[in-house]
Amino acid sequence: LAGDDGALRPTVFAEMTAIAAETGAVNLGQGFPDFDGPPEILEAARQAIADGVNQYGPGRGNPILIDAVRDQRRRHYGLEHARDEVLITVGATEAISAALLAYCDTGDEVIAFEPYYDEYAAVAALAGAKLVPVALQVGDFQPDPADLERAITPRTKAIVLNSPHNPTGAVFTPERLRAIAEIANRHGILVISDEVYEHLTFGPRHVPIAALGLDPDLSIAISSGGKTFSVTGWKVGWAVSTPRRISEITAVKQYMSFVGSVPLQPAIALGLGLSDAFFDTLRAQFTAKRDRLVEGLEATGMRVFTPESGYFALADVAPLGHASATELAYALPREAGVAAVPVSPFARPGRDDLRSIMRFAFCKRDETIAEASKRLQEFA
Ligand code: PMP
Ligand code: GLN
Repeated sequence: LAGDDGALRPTVFAEMTAIAAETGAVNLGQGFPDFDGPPEILEAARQAIADGVNQYGPGRGNPILIDAVRDQRRRHYGLEHARDEVLITVGATEAISAALLAYCDTGDEVIAFEPYYDEYAAVAALAGAKLVPVALQVGDFQPDPADLERAITPRTKAIVLNSPHNPTGAVFTPERLRAIAEIANRHGILVISDEVYEHLTFGPRHVPIAALGLDPDLSIAISSGGKTFSVTGWKVGWAVSTPRRISEITAVKQYMSFVGSVPLQPAIALGLGLSDAFFDTLRAQFTAKRDRLVEGLEATGMRVFTPESGYFALADVAPLGHASATELAYALPREAGVAAVPVSPFARPGRDDLRSIMRFAFCKRDETIAEASKRLQEFA
């Protein structure tokens, strides 16, 4: 199943977190905050458990959360959805898996912009399908619609889109997204749009491709509460599409998990309903963290690609004399006391332009970022 790309090895994130724990390194590898989310959300989960909301709930999710997802899509993007257009899942991960497994068979092709989040290739492999990468150029990491169109074949079943993008932090421009929507419409190809970093933008805001002309029946929008509310361990996500698609994805999802954690769902609903001030503050806090890490990395001599969104900054370690970010990533926890991940697991072998690029997480307390920066500067 792993195929020639080794897609089903242990994930680089889990591996680096284990090495960080073993060596006591500051962990800027796996993307999870080292602080808690808003206290009212944590309290809502405690309360639900205390109130006995502890048994199986409806397979499609708690109607309160389904309505909260609908409200947030209306409030932030002007998109209207009926209740049967939303499915609550076990994180965005399950929504992506269920969608890919629902629509891909042996020999099919799935296009993703590269570097790409590792799950896409792994689940394509589980479905017997092949991931076809379309390169994002090092620099602005914006997708090229002409390259996308050239990658389409009669076997192409889906394009997995991820903006705001992990690992580059690019926010794809509305012009590019509109062009991608036009191509998908013309070829009748599904767009599975992974938008988990939708609220963590530092400049231009996120605009979903669903709001940019994509045929609604080709649109599967996916997000989750983990990043927005700093509760990555809760794994409450969702998929939004047409009623027909949601039924088809639910048919797969019910045999993956049947239903996700029930008491956490009303808490995420409460979060989605927080005021605009919450979302503004979140963006401001993460912008400051981004700036702090970028400054710390630049002081080491690395070439940093300042991200416009998300949890991560990419940096080229070649100016420090390291040709392979993978080799450095294995040495760094012991030699510098910092863990980070190389970008190569997000790409096929052969992307030599990504070889010396590393990803550093800044979804961390200011002290953590400062300590990691200090250690990296001493190491460099
Ligand atoms: N998509 C992307 C781009 C991610 O970075 C992540 C993980 N952090 C996920 C999906 C998975 O999200 P969840 O934890 O909600 O399953
Ligand atoms: N999305 C997180 C990251 O990119 C990790 C999630 C995972 O461990 N699979 O770091």
